[in-house]
Amino acid sequence: MATSGGGSYRNGTHRNSLKVDRPFSMNSNPKTSVKSKPLSSSGLRRSSTGSIGAAKDDAGVPGRVRVAVRLRPRNTEELVADADFADCVELQPELKRLKLRKNNWDSDTYEFDEVLTEFASQKRVYEVVAKPVVESVLDGYNGTIMAYGQTGTGKTYTLGRLGEEDTAARGIMVRAMEDILADVSLETDSISVSYLQLYMETIQDLLDPANDNIPIVEDSKTGDVSLPGANLVEIRDQKSFVELLRLGEAHRFAANTKLNTESSRSHAILMVHVKRSVKGKHSALSSEKGSNLHMKTLRPAIVRKGKLVVVDLAGSERIDKSGSEGHTLEEAKSINLSLSALGKCINALAENSVHVPVRDSKLTRLLKDSFGGTARTSLVITIGPSPRHRGETASTIMFGQRAMKVENMLKLKEEFDYKSLSRGLDIQLDKLISEHERQQKAFENEIERITTEAQNRISEVERNYEDALEEERVKYQRDYMESIKKLEEQLVKNQQKHGFEKVPVRSEDDCSALTSNTESSKISAVEEVSELKKLLQKESLLRKAAEEEVNSLKSQLAQWKRSEASGNSEIIKLRKMLEDEALQKEKLEGEIAILHSQLLQISSEADETRRRLDRGGSGKVPGDLDSLFSQVKLQQQEPGNGEKASVAKLFEQVGLQKILSLLESEDSDLRIHAVKVVANLAAEETNQEKIVEAGGLTSLLMLLRSSENETIHRVAAGAIANLAMNETNQELIMGQGGIGLLSITAANAEDPQTLRMVAGAIANLCGNDKLQMKLRGEGGIKALLGMVRCRHPDVLAQVARGIANFAKCESRASMQGTKTGRSLLIEDGALPWIVQNANNEASPIRRHIELALCHLAQHGMFLFSCL
Ligand code: ADP
Ligand code: MG
Repeated sequence: MATSGGGSYRNGTHRNSLKVDRPFSMNSNPKTSVKSKPLSSSGLRRSSTGSIGAAKDDAGVPGRVRVAVRLRPRNTEELVADADFADCVELQPELKRLKLRKNNWDSDTYEFDEVLTEFASQKRVYEVVAKPVVESVLDGYNGTIMAYGQTGTGKTYTLGRLGEEDTAARGIMVRAMEDILADVSLETDSISVSYLQLYMETIQDLLDPANDNIPIVEDSKTGDVSLPGANLVEIRDQKSFVELLRLGEAHRFAANTKLNTESSRSHAILMVHVKRSVKGKHSALSSEKGSNLHMKTLRPAIVRKGKLVVVDLAGSERIDKSGSEGHTLEEAKSINLSLSALGKCINALAENSVHVPVRDSKLTRLLKDSFGGTARTSLVITIGPSPRHRGETASTIMFGQRAMKVENMLKLKEEFDYKSLSRGLDIQLDKLISEHERQQKAFENEIERITTEAQNRISEVERNYEDALEEERVKYQRDYMESIKKLEEQLVKNQQKHGFEKVPVRSEDDCSALTSNTESSKISAVEEVSELKKLLQKESLLRKAAEEEVNSLKSQLAQWKRSEASGNSEIIKLRKMLEDEALQKEKLEGEIAILHSQLLQISSEADETRRRLDRGGSGKVPGDLDSLFSQVKLQQQEPGNGEKASVAKLFEQVGLQKILSLLESEDSDLRIHAVKVVANLAAEETNQEKIVEAGGLTSLLMLLRSSENETIHRVAAGAIANLAMNETNQELIMGQGGIGLLSITAANAEDPQTLRMVAGAIANLCGNDKLQMKLRGEGGIKALLGMVRCRHPDVLAQVARGIANFAKCESRASMQGTKTGRSLLIEDGALPWIVQNANNEASPIRRHIELALCHLAQHGMFLFSCL
């Protein structure tokens, strides 16, 4: 710790001792020293896990508390009262040093991260003290800016000046909000603010003074501290923020007047919550429609939640002078409790004590994350120049020196935004449902319209037909009646004529007259008959025409009936479509239910991941493949399930190509997960051809060559072993230098499971007659035998299987006469191991060795070599 050091002024020269107990290499902009670590060039340091801050760099990034000292210019009173005295301090800003005068000839020197003279502008103070913290908050870290010092030395001036009359005088709070507002996008990000006062261990809301007993709530899992009882006001522009500060100041003044306290005895705390969406702002749910909605759209956005805490502490003077203001001892203790507890915590942290008494006061509980926590913290200590306050100034300086020793571990506060993903899904579901209802309604209306139209047409045709029929009937009846009437008239006429003929003959004259009468009536009867004939003809013509008309009407009717029938069939068709739609709706509802359950599963997995991470575990699953794995699991657990087909499709949707491309990902975790997926797929015979066609085999071999990760080697070798069950693939593996790569992997591997996979792959290759020479030539047998150094029975079993396979091919070749001479196996030195393990306890090893021995014996070389 930098403590006072003896310095003497002799022979006109200062001899100041500089007691700084650690090497200093201060970076005037701490941001650069720390920020470069947590952030990659993309500005995002994370793997795609559930809770990122706790994933890879769980320990965080070291970030010491930075301390600047600021000297207030002499005020009017000091100019007069201290006119004859020198300031108690002398600043050397370029050396970042401060000398505290002990007396005229002796002084102590202290180093700070920044030394701000009485001429330092508010702008410079902001840039040096606060800006790096504000930038960290915007990047998703917590940040604290705090002022400590004796009353009247400029804490409020430094932090809280609104600077409305003179913008150059704006303090840190106002400038910080300006920077935050300039950097965020209010469409996707949000800023909210609480403003509080802590006095006598009571927290009061400065935005709502009636709310004056706010409890501190601690999350038992994460240890995060929050004040859910405080007003949280959303900020959208600078003006409303300044208004809010002014309101808070007014309430603070009023409250302190009422309580008969001085504002210098209370702590003012401003909390700014910045929530930012950093990725996938639009990806949570794209505008995909209908049943195209699938898992690939389930990608939650990531949110970063930085919290900036600005603390204007109570005056540091008189910490030990309780009772000086007429308070009772208890009151006085309470007044000073928080500040002295803060001093104790900082001492404990500076000295790396096991116990830090954080729980002793509300202030230290609230600042838990700021000192020894995960926040970037910047402290400005304010001092006055007056030699009369030398004691207070010295104690302030010592506080600052101790605070400089406190190390924090900065952690990114980043997490998946599952809430908005779920909200997005709900909206999409609502849309789907209402779209479906709308379609169904439209269909029903259309069917109703067509039905009424058809009915109208049918009744119109029926009406027309009836009218026409009635008209015809009336017309014929009339014609008929007329002709009957005519005939009757004719008949009456004729009867009258015949009546004359029946008169008795009275004389010759009468007789002759009668004779001539008879003649004429005969003539008229003939005429009558011919007229009747004509009438009859006409009648029959008319009848014919009527019959034709009736026929044409009948055919017209038949035609109408046909069109009615076709109308009916159209209705049937529409009914069918309606039924199909209903089925489709059911299907959609089914899909919706599946999506819901998938969402549930994802959420529960996320919870599980979070829990694991909370427990300090480091297991993680890359987000993109996360759902894929859970799908694969689902598929494996529920064979024959109705969803199987759609799950199987998942690979096609994600795309084998995409999975394979992940094998070359920069992110090693992603690579591991991708190679596991490929290995799982390769275990299914049906997938093997697809994998090889898509270049998977080449990628897997490349992983053996390029990766240094043993997990990757193990899984890739396992996948290759699976692929090597097929003869075509065996040739491909050999053709691509596979045996060499497997040999190197075998030579470097430690893990028995890796060796088992490699041995399995080589054993499969050993069973191919065509590859014997090449396999041996490229060191395959040697590699196989080399693996017996690992005595794991699983590895030995695979080695034995390889040898048996190879021996089988050799004996087959020798029987077919395609090979003569000594066994290549024996030439490569396999025999001693074979003999040694012929009685191995493990039955798989023994069985394979027995087989190998049989084949070698058949080969004929065996006995010979033994002799
Ligand atoms: P504190 O909050 O530490 O009690 P204040 O901020 O209220 O102190 O400052 C006390 C007085 O000193 C105020 O009148 C303020 O305007 C003035 N003052 C403080 N710092 C400076 C400075 N750097 N330059 C000019 N005046 C200052
Ligand atoms: Mg003040």
